[in-house]
Amino acid sequence: MPSTETQPTQACRVSVRGVHKSYRQGSRSVQALRGVDLQIEGPGFHAIMGPSGSGKSTLLYLLAGLDTADAGEIRVGDVSLANLSEAELTLHRRRRSGVIFQGFNLLPTLTALENVTLPATLDGRSHAHMAPRAAELLQELGLRDRMDHRPDALSGGEQQRVAIARALLQEPPVLLADEPTGNLDSQTSDRLWRLLAEIAARRNMLVLMVTHEPLAAVHCQRVHVLRDGVVAGNIDLHGMDPSQLAVRVADTLRAAR
Ligand code: ADP
Repeated sequence: MPSTETQPTQACRVSVRGVHKSYRQGSRSVQALRGVDLQIEGPGFHAIMGPSGSGKSTLLYLLAGLDTADAGEIRVGDVSLANLSEAELTLHRRRRSGVIFQGFNLLPTLTALENVTLPATLDGRSHAHMAPRAAELLQELGLRDRMDHRPDALSGGEQQRVAIARALLQEPPVLLADEPTGNLDSQTSDRLWRLLAEIAARRNMLVLMVTHEPLAAVHCQRVHVLRDGVVAGNIDLHGMDPSQLAVRVADTLRAAR
């Protein structure tokens, strides 16, 4: 991995204070987040776990600037998202928050290399200018021979690595991942989790992953447990195995009742 000594350009931390978020579902309002407080100092690999509907994806979306909080403060790196205009939020998404999703979200008509440079080109930079760095990242992620392939010629694991390269291109302080291996087989998933841990360690980044799988979360240093839209507790992993972690998560959820 040749260029892994890259240092982050901004402090790799997230700070969430008193964040609320509701959605309308027909005539009723659903409170997805009810006062989330979460401080994570990077670098490192952290997980957000919790039952379905506890607000994990909502929190990640807010951190990514894909939606805005109703109340409270969210800081990613050194930037407070509450103060950003729509246009600034768009720039935040393109430049500062690297996000990967379960569905990879690659454009089918573009090659792997073009997919990686796409957000930067939307940001006014030329593909030619960004291509060498994108190629370096793809090589670093083991995709040197896949750069000219379109997504349908790539395996799921390869597509997710293209998405990771795309997320890393503008060197965001934080890499956010929402169930990144949800569509992948167990061996490929395991390789991806190790890769994310390696990215956090080698690139001095904060990688924050939403997952419901103890098998995934044991690759992290710390797990933040959400329940009913609030943080119910934190668990430091310290070499825990997946079944021990599952018990600790269940205990944390029970204690928060
Ligand atoms: P998790 O990721 O932990 O499963 P979510 O953050 O997806 O939880 O959802 C939290 C709650 O907010 C759920 O009750 C869900 O139905 C609701 N919710 C999430 N996104 C939306 C949306 N776009 N519109 C309406 N309700 C939503």
